[in-house]
Formats: sequence, structure tokens, C-alpha cells
Amino acid sequence: MKIIYSSACLGYQQPGHPESPQRVQSTYEHLKDLYPFLAPEEIDENILQTVHTGEHVDSVRTGSYHDVDTPYFNNIFDIALLSVAASLTAVNIALEGELVFSLMRPPGHHAKKDSPGGFCYFNNIAIATTYALSKVRSVAIIDFDAHHGNGTQDIFLGHDRVLYLSTHQSPLYPGTGIQSEQNCRNYPLPAGTDEKSYIPVFKQLLNEVHDFNPDMIAVSAGFDAYRGDPLTGMNLDIATFEKIGSMIVGLGKPVFAVLEGGYASELKQCVHSFLRGLESIQP
Ligand SMILES: [Zn+2]
Repeated sequence: MKIIYSSACLGYQQPGHPESPQRVQSTYEHLKDLYPFLAPEEIDENILQTVHTGEHVDSVRTGSYHDVDTPYFNNIFDIALLSVAASLTAVNIALEGELVFSLMRPPGHHAKKDSPGGFCYFNNIAIATTYALSKVRSVAIIDFDAHHGNGTQDIFLGHDRVLYLSTHQSPLYPGTGIQSEQNCRNYPLPAGTDEKSYIPVFKQLLNEVHDFNPDMIAVSAGFDAYRGDPLTGMNLDIATFEKIGSMIVGLGKPVFAVLEGGYASELKQCVHSFLRGLESIQP
């Protein structure tokens, strides 16, 4: 297991905003003596336009967009690009057959082709998946964040080499993912969903991944379905994420995972639990 991280991702903050640098910093502190850490490899910013419009890329550079949840900072372009770079480094490591987790911010799964949203500027998992598709035939994206990855769905709807699958609380921001559409398989769950009712649904989701038989699995790893999360009403336990990780790696495919949400102070334990699950079976 390798972890991709750069402390540069801590370099922006809006006071009171739940997507704080402390969430990632404390996770880094918790894991730093347990796993090897690697810095993101440098990338060319042109790769952003493999999923985003040029107008969107420019709007993140200049702040000419409007989204109250996703504030503009004068260094956000470089930090969001670094978060994308970390996800691409993760793909390269997964292609070598190693497990890998990108511990970076900002998250990405709410960023659409042409707009930011929900604390996300560029869609890390979508750009990484598009890059992976230059190396392998097909990728399944498993998104267990408590919010629907509307940006990822926007980017890949109808793509025949990508299967997007999401479990998420509904109703909840962003309000999408109420039903499956084509290659985007949505599993909306009521507030209060606990491990006992979550795991059978997740097994059903994994059956779809198994049938798709992808060459690689990309994971939008959000931990806000944890019962202590201040932004959602889901009731998963810290140990549930170990089960999720173990079930994903049990598919026997190369896996890379990228941090999305998770706003409780127990984020570090939730991430650690997930990593233990991924390591439970050697691929
Ligand atoms: Zn979320």
C-alpha cells in the first residue's frame, strides 16, 4: 500500500468550512508512520481538458464562477491541479499492481465538465479514469461517499468503457442519483442506513462490477456515511469501511482510491479502517 500526499494541499481554508485542511492533516499524522508516502508526480495542466471545458479550467484559474460552497482562493488552481496529479500518480502505481490511496484535497466528484460544486474544482477520479483508459480497456468507478457523484456521472454518462456505481444518501445534496441511467448505477439510501442494511446493497453493487469485468477499479472514497459525520444522516461505523475495502479488493482487480468527503474528526480512523480492508487480500 502506498499513499500519495503533499502538504501543499493544506494551503487553503475558509474559516468554518467543513472541508478543512485539518481533516487531511490529522489523517496524515495518523498514518504517516504506518505507510510509505509518495509525492504527486508533476503533470501538464492540459490533462484537465480531457474531462473539463476550457472555460471551466479558466474559471477556476480566475475565480469567474459562482458557487457558494466552493470558494475561490488565489492559489486554488495550483492546489486543485496537484490533487489531480496525485490521482494520476495513483493510477500509475495501481498499474504496477500495488494498492494506492490518494490523501489529498480538494475532493472532485461533484465537479462537472463545465462547473465546480460541492467543494470540488476539478474531477480527480474522472481525470484519473480517463488517463487509465489510455492504458486499459475498461474501468469501474465505485463511489461510496454519502453524496452522489453528480460530476462523475455528468462526465461519463453513456461511456461504454466506464461503469459508474454510487451508494449515497437520498434525499441529500446534490439531489441527483435517484435512479440508474445507462452506465451510471445509482443506489440511493435513506438517512439512518446502518451497516446491516448497507452491506447487502454494496454486495449488489459489486455484482454489477463483477459482471462488467473491468480491467481496473477506481474508488471515490468518501467517509461521510460515517455515523458521526456532521453533513449527513448515514449510520455506518468506522469498521464498516474495512468491510467495504475488503469487498472491493476481493474482486481481484487493480485498485486505486482517491479521498472525497468525510468531515467528522474520526476521518482518520475511517480512512485507516478502509486501508486495512484493502490490505486484507493481496491482489
Ligand atoms: Zn460527500
